[in-house]
Amino acid sequence: MFTDEQHSEARARMVEHQIRSRDVGDEGVLRAMETVPRHEFVLTGALGSAYGDHPLPIGHGQTISQPYIVAYMTEALGVGKGRRVLEIGTGCGYQTAILAQMGVEVFSVEIVEPLLANARATLDRLGFRVTTRLGDGHQGWPDEAPFDGILVTAAPTRIPEAFVEQLAQGGRLVIPVGETIQDLKIMEKRGGRLETLYNLPVRFVPMVGGGE
Ligand code: SAH
Repeated sequence: MFTDEQHSEARARMVEHQIRSRDVGDEGVLRAMETVPRHEFVLTGALGSAYGDHPLPIGHGQTISQPYIVAYMTEALGVGKGRRVLEIGTGCGYQTAILAQMGVEVFSVEIVEPLLANARATLDRLGFRVTTRLGDGHQGWPDEAPFDGILVTAAPTRIPEAFVEQLAQGGRLVIPVGETIQDLKIMEKRGGRLETLYNLPVRFVPMVGGGE
C-alpha cells in the first residue's frame, strides 16, 4: 500500500519525466495531471504501476491511455475553464476528471454500462462534477451541442458527421481515426468544415457500434 504523499510524489515525477520532458507545456494541463489521483481510476491490481509510462487495463477489454497521451490530447483540445467539452469513451473516467479539474464542463458518453457505472462512482466519490450518458457516441450529444471541443478516446474508422455538426466554430476535435493503423487527428472547425491541424500515429481501442 502507498501513502498519499507517495502517490503525490509519483504524480510529480510522472509530469516531469513523461509529460513536460516531451513538450506538453500547458500549465493548466500539467497542474491537472499533478492533482488528479490516477491510481483511484485503475484496477486495484495495477495500483503500483498507476503512474507508469504506459496504458493500463480498466476491465472489459478496455484500457486507460498512457499519461502522456492523455496530456497531449488534452493540450491539443485547447480548452480551459468554463468551456463545454464532449468526450466519447468515458472508460474509467480519468480523462474526464482531468478536464473537470481544469474547470471544463464535461459531457461524457460511454457505451459499456459497467464501465460507466464504475467511472460514475469514482468521479462522484472524488467530487468531480460531470455529466455522463450511456450510449453510442457516434451520435454525439445533440441536446447539449454545440461544444467548444470534442475529445474521442476510441477510434472510429471514419469521423461521424454528428461531431462536425455539434462542434462550435473554431472548436477542436481530437480523435484517433483508422482501423489497425490509426492517426490521432487534431482538427479545427472553420467555415463549417473540419481542417486537420496535425496528425500523430497512435493505437487506440476501436469505437464499437454505429453500424460500422
Ligand atoms: N478515456 C478513457 C479511455 C477509454 S478507452 C479513460 O480515461 O479511461 C475507450 C473507451 O471508449 C472504452 O471505455 C470503450 O468502451 C468506449 N467506447 C467504445 N466505443 C464507444 C462508442 N461507440 N460510444 C461510446 N463509448 C465507446
